[in-house]
Amino acid sequence: MKFISTRNNKIKKTLSEAIQLGLAEDGGLFVPELFPTLDLNTFTVDLSFPDFAEQLLKPFFQEDILEKELPMICKNAFSFPVPLTKVNADTFLLELFHGPTSSFKDFGARFLAECLEILSAQHKTTILVATSGDTGSAVASAFYRKANIQVIILYPKGKISERQEHQIACWDTNIVALAVDGSFDDCQRMVKQAFQDVWWRKHLHLSSANSINIARLLPQMTYYAYTSVHFYHQYKTGPGFIIPSGNLGHATAAYWAKKLGFPIREIFLATNANKVVPDYLASGDFNPRPSVATLANAMDVGNPSNFERLQDFFPTFDSFKKNVTAISVTDAEIKKTIQEYYEKYKIMICPHTATGCYMRKQLSDQPWIIAATADPAKFDDIIESTIHQSAPVSLQLQQLLNKPVHITEIENNLEAIKPFLQ
Ligand SMILES: *Cc1c(COP(=O)(O)O)cnc(C)c1O
Repeated sequence: MKFISTRNNKIKKTLSEAIQLGLAEDGGLFVPELFPTLDLNTFTVDLSFPDFAEQLLKPFFQEDILEKELPMICKNAFSFPVPLTKVNADTFLLELFHGPTSSFKDFGARFLAECLEILSAQHKTTILVATSGDTGSAVASAFYRKANIQVIILYPKGKISERQEHQIACWDTNIVALAVDGSFDDCQRMVKQAFQDVWWRKHLHLSSANSINIARLLPQMTYYAYTSVHFYHQYKTGPGFIIPSGNLGHATAAYWAKKLGFPIREIFLATNANKVVPDYLASGDFNPRPSVATLANAMDVGNPSNFERLQDFFPTFDSFKKNVTAISVTDAEIKKTIQEYYEKYKIMICPHTATGCYMRKQLSDQPWIIAATADPAKFDDIIESTIHQSAPVSLQLQQLLNKPVHITEIENNLEAIKPFLQ
């Protein structure tokens, strides 16, 4: 299997190359050259999650040097449970936040870290990552003390929750967290610039841990596929998924999983007030813009980096419109939904998950699974001010919160990062 650039299908790389490059040299994103035909009968409900994932990802690893390592990669990366909680007869929450940093980002970050550790045996790798909250902590935790890898995390100063920042800035040795004087879009721009900059390309083996990296996208297919198979087995019908979206990483992965033939009925996207995708669907014009701050801050994205992959997947506006439905949810609606879920069902949800739960209320009574993307306890200030209860803190969250933090602020330009490079 080869991976091609969204901008030029003549740029063709092996999986390992695509992982190490992050972005294609023409600025495009890597996508699989083709989608394999799977024998769905072999995806049985008795498979463990890592075994299921291995079977699903195997064709994408074919003929790559990582192929024989895939079983170990899956076993190490997917080391936590993925429960499906029933809310009511036709509404379910897929709890993706039981990894070490309490958001679904652990799936992709841990998978990528396993791959890059193997690929960095020969030379030192520098990973540059922009985060609007949860990517940073997931990447820091996943790469902590991985040999031959330095991670530089850029996050927008003052625009993420205190607990999110704590989880990003509590590491040492090979992890450097920098609070950038700017927005998430500034952070993302700095990463993109570094990849195109002569000095950076010449002096470092740069790689990215953002969802532009194909090794973060691929593993995100697994939980949608796995859950749809289990759901189908139990309820004899394929579920629809509602996906709280920002950079469109795991939404793209869900469309890929559906394409592979897994019993997914349809896929809907919920965004916060950053509504480039809903606007695109309404007008046909894709208008990236500065992000606005919302309660669902990990989705505060004005120029979703995976839009290019989604557009590559649905190349005409007609096909895009036919397959993608998206709505924008306001902060007031997020708060109201958090309140409702607590009062009605005694379930606490994070502000991101709340966008999906809000969308669910507008939809039919066919079965819907909402991707619950983060532990509400990561956003305790919002939860407490909304339902006047504090969310219980899990063991893994408490462990991170007990570590001391050191916050380093920098200007929003590439030069400001250089002193921190090893
Ligand atoms: C990253 C994130 C999202 C958005 O996911 P994308 O893949 O960027 O669309 C939603 N919720 C939470 C909690 C996140 O951390």
